[in-house]
Amino acid sequence: MDNLFRTELKGLTPGEIQKYFESLGERKFRGDQVFNWIYNHLVFDFDQMRNLPKPLREKLKLNSIISSLQLIDKQYSPKTGTTKYLFRTSDNQNIESVIIPEKGRNTLCISTQVGCPLDCKFCATGVMGYKRNLTTGEIVDQYLLSAKENGKGYITNIVYMGMGEPLLNYERTISSLQIFTNEITKGVSRNRITISTAGIPHKIIELAESGIRAKLALSLHSCFEDIRSKIMPINQRYSLRENIAAVRIYSKKTKTRITFEYTMLKNINDRDEDVNALIKLCSSLPSKINVIPFNSIKHMNPSGISAELESTPPERIALFVEKLRENHISVFIRETQGDDIAAACGQLAVKYLSLRI
Ligand code: SAH
Repeated sequence: MDNLFRTELKGLTPGEIQKYFESLGERKFRGDQVFNWIYNHLVFDFDQMRNLPKPLREKLKLNSIISSLQLIDKQYSPKTGTTKYLFRTSDNQNIESVIIPEKGRNTLCISTQVGCPLDCKFCATGVMGYKRNLTTGEIVDQYLLSAKENGKGYITNIVYMGMGEPLLNYERTISSLQIFTNEITKGVSRNRITISTAGIPHKIIELAESGIRAKLALSLHSCFEDIRSKIMPINQRYSLRENIAAVRIYSKKTKTRITFEYTMLKNINDRDEDVNALIKLCSSLPSKINVIPFNSIKHMNPSGISAELESTPPERIALFVEKLRENHISVFIRETQGDDIAAACGQLAVKYLSLRI
């Protein structure tokens, strides 16, 4: 039978896989067993699922499939210890994931879309445009395949900060979270998972009410509506004011601190009034700031404002951070991870777009 008519099992939540097994006339616990093989043992071949009776394995081979992304490139940066994976989907799209090792933890950064529709002016993925949402299977497979490469248990944290906007692929993002945090999976606990969003207020509130309680990061980049609208066009549709109201609700409901991501752009968001506005905002809710030096996107030959963007010089970043800390704001500076292997958002996949056969 053609694969088109088979049910894809990778990406089904535990509840969905149980239902699927019932629809095949099997008991629910058989679904748990298959889920356990996929997520705990990283086994994707029915014949290796030894506790399933042979007739069931045959039935599964006929009706279902466990497909995988194809790993087409892997780049290791000796400078930072970062490893970048480039995967290809069955319809020949490229997506990327990065593993960032840091004191005692290994963080996997995953993508939720091929490209991105938001067109943030500082982001290489934005320049490449939007292709499609990833399926739940494609989102979780970035974790499964990198766990298989490095051994189960190696990945301790997951951040949804790769290509795409997770809250615009909401249902699949939620399903992938349900899979990662499931008690059968024993994968990554929800307080070690961060969803990063450019700000879709009603989806932030929906997430707050979903009971999932992952950590939330808002890509802030400016406290001023007019500046934010220039560098993040989505702000013209969903204002900062609405987003701040939404993250306040999120923080209260989930009892978590909000992370504000702040990419430092010279003369755009690094002035004295910027630091003062940040202090005021962060003092008003449980939060911390993730300061990110801007990774140049000049290699994309961008036009308009994107072509003019420059990173704030390191001395200015240091002063900016010092002022925040003096005012008791919790700040974390993200080093330009994997700059030497183009690990900034979207860069590797973009490089490969032109090489595609
Ligand atoms: N769409 C989501 C997640 C993807 S971007 C979001 O907007 O949060 C992940 C983070 O990387 C965001 O904070 C984004 O603003 C930042 N980023 C994107 N391009 C960058 C660049 N060239 N230099 C530094 N940070 C960048």
